[in-house]
Amino acid sequence: MSTKYKVLCGTPREHCIGSLYSTDQDLPKKSHASHEEAFKCYARYLVKAEGYIRIGPREFRKDGHPVRVLTKKIRFGGRLRAGKEGSRYMPASRAGTRGIIVG
Ligand SMILES: [Zn+2]
Repeated sequence: MSTKYKVLCGTPREHCIGSLYSTDQDLPKKSHASHEEAFKCYARYLVKAEGYIRIGPREFRKDGHPVRVLTKKIRFGGRLRAGKEGSRYMPASRAGTRGIIVG
C-alpha cells in the first residue's frame, strides 16, 4: 500500500511554492509533500505577502491585527491522500465527496 499523501497549505495559489497536481475537474492546484512544507509555505506567505512579522516558531504579528498562531507543523494544512490511480488526490477527511477540494 502506498502511504503517499499531499498537503494543502491554504496559501493563495499565486504565492504558493508547492508543486502542481491535478484533480478531476479543477484547474491544477498546488500542494506540498509534507505538513512541514505546507507550514513553511504559509509562513512565508504571511511574512512576504501579508506583511506579518514572525515572532515565534508559529506566531506572527502585524500592526492592527491580532497575533496569528498557526497550527503545529506536524498537523498543518489539509491532508490529501492519493486516489486509486495515484495521480488524483482528495481530502482524507472528505472521502466520498470526490472532486471538491477546499484550498
Ligand atoms: Zn503552498
